Amino acid sequence: MNRIGGSTLPDTWTRPRVTGDLPGPRSAELLARQDERESNARTYPRRLPVAIAEGRGSFVRDLDGNTFIDFLTGAGVLSLGHNHPELVRAATRQLGRLAHGLDLPTPAKDAFTHAQLAMLPADLRDHMRVHFCGPAGGDAVDAAVKLCKTATGRRDVIAFGGGYHGSGHLAMSLSGLVAQKQPIADRVPGVHFFPYSYCARCPLGLDPGRCAVNCVTLLEETLRDTHGGIPLPAAVIMELVQGEGGVIPARPEFVRRVRDLTAALDIPLIVDEVQTGCGRTGTWLAFERYGIRPDVIVMSKALSGLGLPVAIILYDRRLDVWAPGAHIGTFRGNQTAFAAGAEAVRIVRRDGVLGNVAERGEQIAGRLSELAANPWVRDVRGLGLMWGVELADPQDGHPAGGLARRVQAGALRRGLITEVGGRGDCVIRLLPALNVTPEVVDMACDILLDAIDAA
Ligand code: PMP
Repeated sequence: MNRIGGSTLPDTWTRPRVTGDLPGPRSAELLARQDERESNARTYPRRLPVAIAEGRGSFVRDLDGNTFIDFLTGAGVLSLGHNHPELVRAATRQLGRLAHGLDLPTPAKDAFTHAQLAMLPADLRDHMRVHFCGPAGGDAVDAAVKLCKTATGRRDVIAFGGGYHGSGHLAMSLSGLVAQKQPIADRVPGVHFFPYSYCARCPLGLDPGRCAVNCVTLLEETLRDTHGGIPLPAAVIMELVQGEGGVIPARPEFVRRVRDLTAALDIPLIVDEVQTGCGRTGTWLAFERYGIRPDVIVMSKALSGLGLPVAIILYDRRLDVWAPGAHIGTFRGNQTAFAAGAEAVRIVRRDGVLGNVAERGEQIAGRLSELAANPWVRDVRGLGLMWGVELADPQDGHPAGGLARRVQAGALRRGLITEVGGRGDCVIRLLPALNVTPEVVDMACDILLDAIDAA
């Protein structure tokens, strides 16, 4: 038996089990219907061909009775695993009272707001404001940029290569992913990309062994140059660990210098913590690990802990000069998400979940260290419970996306759900639940190492 959230899981939910080919017949039936009826733009079922019936903790089961360890967790949404019983209870209780509340004050929203502010470092807590956005990370990114443009009266925005901020027109314009932009005639103007500290593939082609973080020097010199070509921007937006870009933790010196530069030039710094927030990297927010203080924080994915959608921005009060109605949306009052989210914060504290993130992260680092000897593994990197294994052709260094997808398929057949991302999808990504147990981490690492070996 396996304890989770005060209840126990029967043994059938404590280990992966896959019988026969994937997809099984019942999954295949739904996948075929989906293929007929749904959009060509759908993504996950193309690489993870299963139809999901139910989930519990770190496990999901498909319609054919196969059980998988879920190291994708709804793209990092299910921070306490599937259907955490206490979160379900909190959400269900709230559903019986009030489900939707626009942006009117409610006790559930008040408790949620209090919980989020209470998780900020003490020196930030009292001068940050919260704005409730439409329920997606991309909408909150939109709000953050509009806020900074309004407050500064400036037009341009600096983003980083490899970054991902969402799929809407503005968020897509701020993101590195070229394939999404290619067929779209116009993008939001005034976005300028600078290199990120991606040392496994240095954007300046330099030797990482003798690195002076020249990637950030380019940004510093350009913004200070009277002939640099870019007017003083409204904001700089960055992820502290690029997730979709291939699990790339920024170098601490890179982040500190971006912060110093933006502070000196009075440019608001937006940290996109949609994926890194809510404890994913071992502190409630990743900027704490880097020892900086941002002006705007974007949060979404794991805020409810349960997969109920909610998105917010937290920002310095001095920026709060936008007008009533400046960023609105019908679905900004998801009371069940608020109730689950406040409960999730309580559980994270009570159960020492952030400590578990650090310990399980070290466990993963230890287990994956043997990959250093594999010539196809270019890099293994991560922070907290965000890990990536980058695969590349040892002859020419080209991203080995085909191989990564074969590893993903092999892991699935063995009972582990992973994600791929990064350049050419060459990075196998792990995003387990933050309360994952050592036993589950061990089983998952066994499967992954086996799948890499076999591929
Ligand atoms: N920012 C980051 C860092 C993300 O990882 C994502 C989603 N992967 C988004 C923004 C967009 O969030 P959503 O898909 O909810 O719009």
